[in-house]
Amino acid sequence: MSALLEATGVAVEYHRTGAPPLRAVDHADLTLARGEILGLVGESGCGKSTLGRAIVGLQGTTSGEIRFDGRPVAPLGLRRRPAELRGLQMVFQDPYASLNPRRLVGDQVGDGYLLGGTSKTEARRRAGELLERVGLPADAVKRYPHEFSGGQRQRIAIARTLAAEPSCIIADEPISALDASAQASVANLLVELVRELDMGLVFISHDLSVVRQIADRTAVMYLGRVVEVGPTRQVWSEPAHPYTKALISAVPRADGAGVLPVELPGDVPDPSRPPGGCRFHPRCPVALASCAHDDPPLTILRDGRSAACVLAE
Ligand code: SF4
Repeated sequence: MSALLEATGVAVEYHRTGAPPLRAVDHADLTLARGEILGLVGESGCGKSTLGRAIVGLQGTTSGEIRFDGRPVAPLGLRRRPAELRGLQMVFQDPYASLNPRRLVGDQVGDGYLLGGTSKTEARRRAGELLERVGLPADAVKRYPHEFSGGQRQRIAIARTLAAEPSCIIADEPISALDASAQASVANLLVELVRELDMGLVFISHDLSVVRQIADRTAVMYLGRVVEVGPTRQVWSEPAHPYTKALISAVPRADGAGVLPVELPGDVPDPSRPPGGCRFHPRCPVALASCAHDDPPLTILRDGRSAACVLAE
């Protein structure tokens, strides 16, 4: 599969007066193929949402390169992006914040078609079709966002994204603000759309069990870096990085199988003062003395996945 999206060595730094710069993303690498779902996981503050925003051009980068369909992505925001980047879209965590409460749903969904040069009547008609496709009633076009539940609003936001005819969607915690039943149905809708439209999807989530169910590959971030990436089944059954092992061990299994949670000492370090060497070493249960000064890069392992750990082979 050729890469639809490639992020190489991406860094995002925030400069603050009187404090060291905060490196939210630190030389992170990611690839995504057409038709693929990549789950991007990690604890809160690990940089996964910042990386997602950088990928769609909503966040400036300090260094590195992001290419979508072979073209570089510059940070211009979603509205000012060149036409060839309209195929790269984002779905946000809070659907209500991303919708205008004073505009009819049909008009908001139809905006994507208007930008593409379609007439107003045709845009409204196609918006109705899209709303039905995402599971909403046909009269949704003539209603306002507040008339819908949280799950339905996220469906509206997804329909609006689809009007741009994307080949790649970055979904940043798209289900975490929803109740349990809406979470499953919105996640299933995204999977259906990826398969039906042959899109790529980066599904950013702190919920490993959902990622396990829907993602073809999983990338794990720790303190601004991708520390492991590989097929979800492999990452879940035989995590190569000690941090992945700890994350997975804390997730309750549906089959009730007992896994002894790996307790990590201490908190996630301050990203403005990351530890030297392997940045996971102060919390790593299997750290070697050399880990305090050696910083292992993300390396391809024998089984084809990648991990950033001296012990991973
Ligand atoms: Fe642990 Fe060392 Fe591997 Fe880092 S490189 S994860 S500290 S064993």
